[in-house]
Amino acid sequence: MVDLNKLVRENVIKLSPYSCARDEFKGKTGTFMDANENPYGNLNRYPDPYQIELKTALSKIKGIEEEKIFLGNGSDEIIDLCFRVFCNPGVDKALTFTPTYGMYSVSASVNDVEVISVPLNGSFQIDLKKTEPLFSDKNLKLVFICSPNNPTANSMKLDDIEYIINKFEGIVVVDEAYIDFSDNPSIINLVSKYPNLILMQTFSKAFGLAAVRVGIALSDPRIIKFFNKIKPPYNISTLNQKAALKKLSQKDQFKNRVIRIKKERVRLSAILSKMEIVEKVYPSDANFLLVKVKNADLIYNSLVDKNIIVRNRSKIIDNCLRITIGKRSENDILVKALKDLQHLF
Ligand code: PMP
Repeated sequence: MVDLNKLVRENVIKLSPYSCARDEFKGKTGTFMDANENPYGNLNRYPDPYQIELKTALSKIKGIEEEKIFLGNGSDEIIDLCFRVFCNPGVDKALTFTPTYGMYSVSASVNDVEVISVPLNGSFQIDLKKTEPLFSDKNLKLVFICSPNNPTANSMKLDDIEYIINKFEGIVVVDEAYIDFSDNPSIINLVSKYPNLILMQTFSKAFGLAAVRVGIALSDPRIIKFFNKIKPPYNISTLNQKAALKKLSQKDQFKNRVIRIKKERVRLSAILSKMEIVEKVYPSDANFLLVKVKNADLIYNSLVDKNIIVRNRSKIIDNCLRITIGKRSENDILVKALKDLQHLF
């Protein structure tokens, strides 16, 4: 069993958090003269620092207790908080399985944390034999697993994820940003089983609220308390809390859009697979396709010339483009443009 108090940075355990005006009085009505707000206007009051209404709704939908939920200004804020809670700058380390989402290592650098990267194997799965010996490093505090993984689009094996959570005596962060597009289940049921698991999800993908910046962390209440202790007091605006809350009530729209995107994923994948300039379309559990092409740089630049923007990932996976699934009409525009490029080859 991991000892959370040994994993958390000493300064974080010791620090007294900023106590904001809204921490002290929880009522909704009253004569508010405590927070130096302007008495005039509609957006004049500070937001709820703990986003209680949103968490209550989310807790019902996800079937998990409110005390196990933390909301960040996007998952990107949560990634940063993981480093700030658990990693002593210049001393501690984090492990990632590459290629993967770039913010884990950027956030590590910002916090002066060394990253050990273990390459995924040929099937883009975790190589447990290479990974397990690294767990004996006492300064290794965080392991990031992205599943479904960006940019490879596949899910990691559930047994491997649980094996790592069991074996590693530090914190395992599992990033499920794309889980709603996957045919594999979420590991949300493991949150209550393992106190060293931080499960991240987001409103940016299947909920379609990337502009709103709300990320979700599900974890042991003690970890949630540490996040709350060090986060900026009002990290999610009132407008954004309301937008996320409204989205949670639009269940049919959520389901229909996910179905539509998954259908388009199948259709686009089938069309691309047949094209001469495409060498391989990798299976996808996400809302994007990883596509190996004949000359990624040339195709990428030619698409940009036509105002079609995909992600050139050829620096990290040979000749690969990452293509987000668009609306049917957008996917058709892409297909037509790619067909027009065939003569270059
Ligand atoms: N995790 C993964 C795997 C991502 O690909 C992204 C964004 N592309 C994020 C997290 C960031 O999510 P958010 O918008 O909630 O910060």
